[in-house]
Amino acid sequence: MVLALVQRMWRTTDTRLLWKFVYNFGYKGVRSVQRFKRRLKQGQTFPPFLYISITSGCNLRCRGCWVDVDRPAVSLGLDELNHLIEGAKAHGNSFFGLLGGEPFLYPDLIRMLEQHPDCYFQIFTNGHFITDEMAAELHRLGNVTPLVSVEGTELISDQRRGRPGVLNRTLAGLETCLRHRLITGVTTSVCQNNYDDLVTEAWVDELIRRGVHYVWYTTYRPVGPDPAPELALRPEQMLGVRRFAMKIRNTRPIVVVDAYWDDQGRALCPAAVGISHHISPTGDIEPCPIVQFAGDSIRDNGSDVFKTISASSFLSSFRAAATGATRGCIILERPDLLRTVVEGQAARDSTLRQTALAELLAMQPRPSQHCPGHELPEQNWLYRLTKKYWFFGFGAYS
Ligand code: SF4
Repeated sequence: MVLALVQRMWRTTDTRLLWKFVYNFGYKGVRSVQRFKRRLKQGQTFPPFLYISITSGCNLRCRGCWVDVDRPAVSLGLDELNHLIEGAKAHGNSFFGLLGGEPFLYPDLIRMLEQHPDCYFQIFTNGHFITDEMAAELHRLGNVTPLVSVEGTELISDQRRGRPGVLNRTLAGLETCLRHRLITGVTTSVCQNNYDDLVTEAWVDELIRRGVHYVWYTTYRPVGPDPAPELALRPEQMLGVRRFAMKIRNTRPIVVVDAYWDDQGRALCPAAVGISHHISPTGDIEPCPIVQFAGDSIRDNGSDVFKTISASSFLSSFRAAATGATRGCIILERPDLLRTVVEGQAARDSTLRQTALAELLAMQPRPSQHCPGHELPEQNWLYRLTKKYWFFGFGAYS
């Protein structure tokens, strides 16, 4: 299946874009994880992968969204963003995830991407602002992969995302990316009202037919001001997503990304092991996008993000508490413990709405990707190898 996948990538994108992907993301990505591992041995945690919410502005109003989209948009300044990226690059980082809100609403997006040809950026987007002109610019730069979020059928998408015509505009943006031969992915936050439609071979075959190169199934996190807990998956459905992902990896020429399980099928939390952390649109440094508390900002220590994150007592307390309590998601399984860490570290609420603590207090413990006794080891040799050496617990779990 790996050969068929390589052939399809070769046929549907350009050599120059493939080279940027293989070198800036593949080779330099592995090197950044190797440096991360060396730092860990020296007792220092600085993640090789930073996820940056460059703006809180968005045109949609999705149920379950934790971003303050209803308030006037807040965005990171271009100079600040470039300085942040340069600071991480100086320690071997080359891959950055860009989130929002809707990142394509960030006015200086192309100018920022242009300044880092030696990096690779994954942009989480609803696809609504990917015009031919924008896609042509992304193709010219070559160091970007759009990851387009599809959250359900037409009806479900409109209901869930709070606007009419959402799916059609998203699929139009997706089609534009593929027509411009960009390396393009589709992501879904799997929940009760899209599981049966999107966790299917028919949907994946449809994506392959359209030319999509990879899929990322995340599992719905009931957080934020409108958490909609009824949408969250049951444990057997979480395992269903895992089983499905592995089946597709062995039967379809498409990459299936996941960030929740190692090569042995043991759950992990990327923030708890320190392989990734999140920068909010206000510059606050959070464990991950949905844990909206911070003890530090990118402006601390003269804007030396490496020094700030490596020395952060809130982040290290978060990691210690999370890995001590579960291999899964602390905010789902142990909101009480997360509260203790937040209050113990006097971490601030990093939202604009300033209701994150009240939301945390209202949360009921629920299962996450950690299903002890139901571990499903990786079946595909390439994923097994990749996860075994470059995406696992890094000794964080005893
Ligand atoms: S805390 Fe939960 S949502 Fe955040 S990275 Fe960990 S598992 Fe994912």
